[in-house]
Amino acid sequence: MLPRMDRDWHVLIGGEARRGRGDTSVILEPATGEPLAEVDQANADDLDDALTAAITEFETGSWARTDATQRGRVLAEVARLLRVRAEEFALVEARGAGHPIGDARWEATTAAEVFEYYAGAANKHFGEVVPVQQPGLDVVLREPVGVCALIVPWNFPLLIATWKVAPALACGNPIILKPASLTPLTAIMLGEVLLEAGVPPAAVSVLVGPGRVLGDALVADRRVSKIGFTGETATGASILRASSENIARCSLELGGKSAAVVFADADLERCANETPMAVFGNAGQDCCSRSRILVQRSAYDEFIEAFTAATERVRVGDPLDDTTEMGPMISEDQRQTSVDYLGIGEQEGARRVTGGDLRPSDGWFISPAVLADVDNSMRVAREEIFGPVACVIPFENEDDAVRIANDSEYGLSGSLWTADMGRGIRVAKALRTGTLSVNSYKSVRTETPFGGYKRSGLGRELGMHAMNTYTEVKNVFFSSESAAG
Ligand code: NDP
Repeated sequence: MLPRMDRDWHVLIGGEARRGRGDTSVILEPATGEPLAEVDQANADDLDDALTAAITEFETGSWARTDATQRGRVLAEVARLLRVRAEEFALVEARGAGHPIGDARWEATTAAEVFEYYAGAANKHFGEVVPVQQPGLDVVLREPVGVCALIVPWNFPLLIATWKVAPALACGNPIILKPASLTPLTAIMLGEVLLEAGVPPAAVSVLVGPGRVLGDALVADRRVSKIGFTGETATGASILRASSENIARCSLELGGKSAAVVFADADLERCANETPMAVFGNAGQDCCSRSRILVQRSAYDEFIEAFTAATERVRVGDPLDDTTEMGPMISEDQRQTSVDYLGIGEQEGARRVTGGDLRPSDGWFISPAVLADVDNSMRVAREEIFGPVACVIPFENEDDAVRIANDSEYGLSGSLWTADMGRGIRVAKALRTGTLSVNSYKSVRTETPFGGYKRSGLGRELGMHAMNTYTEVKNVFFSSESAAG
């Protein structure tokens, strides 16, 4: 067994690493169930100190007033440091979140890419000059929005933090980052990197602590102007309520129950071989998981056979083994949820074709599962399982496929497999979802907007769209009229 990650895991308050005044929390390693690290938690006084530092920095400090090109240079340095420490970040993510080491390495380098993108974006996000009817000059300015409360979940702890931190800083805002209690380690490391790169200390706080206490107090505080949140839909709704008095700006990335729509004319072999990673990547703990697989009836049996074979080839095991494709789930509870849903699906009449075996080990492993003959009205097709359970649903024709895919309270991601590009265009336009891949299982790209329709969220992250959500718009009119003479 590898040693624990013993070092000081302090909270960061206005750039200062401090013993949090809350209880200490013990982080468990998903692959072993053993303690991995002990982390300080912040209490209400720590939160108040972080908010005071952030609002003071915003109102009188340097970051919002630093020219955008220089802010970009600092973010480029963050990216460079992330690349230097990529292996260290990958190892912590693999052990702390159970991600296969190959995936964790990709996440660490993608985190650097996100900072590279927003380093370049910082001085390319500008206002407008508007032709108005009065004599003069009318300009639209983009200004930093204010103190940003950034709350992230445990499924992609580092990557999702960078999606919020990088554009927030690029736009000149101070940040308070609250990682999930299960996976705070890489957020603390990211805070240290920001400071080393030259972000002003008062603009950087990382607070570990229980969401329902610390997170709740953070989003309700008057000093917070913007909330960037990723997590459960119910939590997003509670954040909207808590922040409503302050009219804080909110972007919410919430749950999903996305569909992969497979037409009989698709390259079935490629689709069947690639789709497992669209469902079982990160052990299904992915808001973009295409956990409803809609297959045209005439190709249904052939697809089930090929998809099941590909699912059984997914290598489940030690996250630190280079050949592992699926690691453990984040916690015993999260694994039990998948086990429970498999039982619910079978009771509802679905047929378990493979998977759902608990691995004989101490960690929270489970083999990826396929439920066939699922009807879209079943709970397993309607509720987000957030585990490695694929529901395969037959459909008859194009209209049927669109109707079933859209029959969900969510609308985050999706895939569409067909050889007919005319159909590809028609169906892509008809699907009510925020991001869609045609003939590809991939779903998120740094350069493009990402977010959900319906109860999957509010606002967009990534690409230049994120820059809009971290700025306010100010209109200024300069009159050219002057006294005669
Ligand atoms: P939660 O909503 O429980 O938690 C997310 C974050 O919010 C954590 O940091 C949590 O802290 C914090 N939090 C919890 N309650 C509150 C509150 N009342 N006020 C403020 N903050 C709070 O989600 P999970 O961490 O369990 O993540 C899984 C869920 O997130 C799934 O439903 C998944 O679909 C969704 N998700 C959506 C994504 C997207 O991009 N759309 C991406 C990833 C996940 P603590 O950990 O201390 O409880």
